[in-house]
Amino acid sequence: MNSLATHLQDCIRLEGPMPISRYMAEALGHPEWGYYISRDPLGRAGDFITAPEVSQMFGELIGLWCADRWQAMGAPDPFILAELGPGRGTLMADALRAGASVPGFVQAAQVHLVETSPVLRASQRAALPQDVTSCEITWHDNIADLPALPGLTIANEFFDALPIRQFQRAEDGWHERMVGLQDDALCLVLDPAVVPAVPTELMAQDAELGDIVEVSSARTGAMTELAQHIVQNSGGALVIDYGHGRSAVGDTLQAMRGHKFVAVLDDPGQADLTSHVDFQALAEAAGSAGARAYGPVGQGAFLTQLGINQRAQMLQQTATVEQAAAIASALLRLTDQDQMGQLFKVMAVTTETTNEGQTPPGFLESE
Ligand code: SAH
Repeated sequence: MNSLATHLQDCIRLEGPMPISRYMAEALGHPEWGYYISRDPLGRAGDFITAPEVSQMFGELIGLWCADRWQAMGAPDPFILAELGPGRGTLMADALRAGASVPGFVQAAQVHLVETSPVLRASQRAALPQDVTSCEITWHDNIADLPALPGLTIANEFFDALPIRQFQRAEDGWHERMVGLQDDALCLVLDPAVVPAVPTELMAQDAELGDIVEVSSARTGAMTELAQHIVQNSGGALVIDYGHGRSAVGDTLQAMRGHKFVAVLDDPGQADLTSHVDFQALAEAAGSAGARAYGPVGQGAFLTQLGINQRAQMLQQTATVEQAAAIASALLRLTDQDQMGQLFKVMAVTTETTNEGQTPPGFLESE
């Protein structure tokens, strides 16, 4: 059995069942055995592939989005270009390369990366060599550590990795789903106590017996910090993730290993553990902090409005036949409704004032 599973079992024997949020936090972030702490999980040889790893077009268009917003902010110099959970650094490298076409943008940027994994910090350093980016790069553990400067922040598949709690409706009320032990194996159990306070609006509404709701103070807390940074210093953020636009009931906790779904309690620390992002909850957190949220819109619609079809055609003009086919298939993967185009969504967060009457690119109503 793996060391993290043994550690979690010992904790449960000593303290009783733990909330799913603690299980998720330990499985992903345990200082020694946590999934993200000990490996680079991305790419074909890893467990999952993200949009920036599918094609350079993704990071390039996001870089141009940031450059456009920077100009709309009055081209502050310096400003911070931040990314939360930058993975291999691919998105930021592509964004800076494309952003360099806008005079002054890269020169004014200070790159700040919020990343807890030492392995991925090393990959990010390698993807962003000083001589190529000509930007200063600083790493942080927390959003709250970002310096007080105007900023633009990107978060692709960051929020889905932050821990959630689950509650299930029973005859006598809502109970928290916990990770417990049965015959020395990890299993999901219901906390016998009825939750005294309703942690989400959704629970107050009529729910069917057995319905599950998910709440995440880690996610709303991260969004609150991000929105506060934007309100206090001006700027904006782009959040891309898979999830739902409106809060809804359902168990969306999932584990992925080797590009396949696996059981969430099998081999903790050896599989990616995520759940769908509740964009309504994020938008409400941004609103409560005084910022304004746009969207979410489907990733396909967002990238199409930003010109991904034209960018693909441009790249294909100088490509070999094989490369052109790979570009076409990446385009489809990123934008098709049955692939990443609809399940993945994009939300922008901005200050209430700077963007009045000025909807960010990608969020315009289609005619
Ligand atoms: N954005 C990248 C990687 C997504 S995977 C891409 O699109 O390819 C999730 C990323 O978030 C990883 O870099 C992981 O190490 C980081 N991460 C997970 N939990 C974190 C936390 N609590 N604080 C900071 N970074 C975190």
